[in-house]
Amino acid sequence: MKCLEFFPVIVTRYPQDEDHAPILEDEVHARISAAENVCDGDLILASFEDNGRSLYFNDQYPASGYAYDPDCGCGVCPLDHAGPVVVLADWGGWCDPWPANAPVLIIPTEDGRLKG
Ligand SMILES: [Zn+2]
Repeated sequence: MKCLEFFPVIVTRYPQDEDHAPILEDEVHARISAAENVCDGDLILASFEDNGRSLYFNDQYPASGYAYDPDCGCGVCPLDHAGPVVVLADWGGWCDPWPANAPVLIIPTEDGRLKG
């Protein structure tokens, strides 16, 4: 039996403008995941605003998570959240912390894609 999770969000169409890089993978594989379930190599496309609508980043980026350390000194981590936090990427000296339960729009690595 497979466990499915549902998120009360709205995924809007990816912006086709000069501010957004073209998506490099087939968008048909995009899905929503809790930040704590994002795997290394998953392509991160968007976060979700408080109203539940997708907020696309200007460019997608691959997850390369590591353990959250609020004292890491990057300048971003100490600003964050009261609840559990995961770090989804290293931006060369500053972290990419997310609330562990935050929905993230991703394209999973090929190994993580749902099989028909
Ligand atoms: Zn940090």
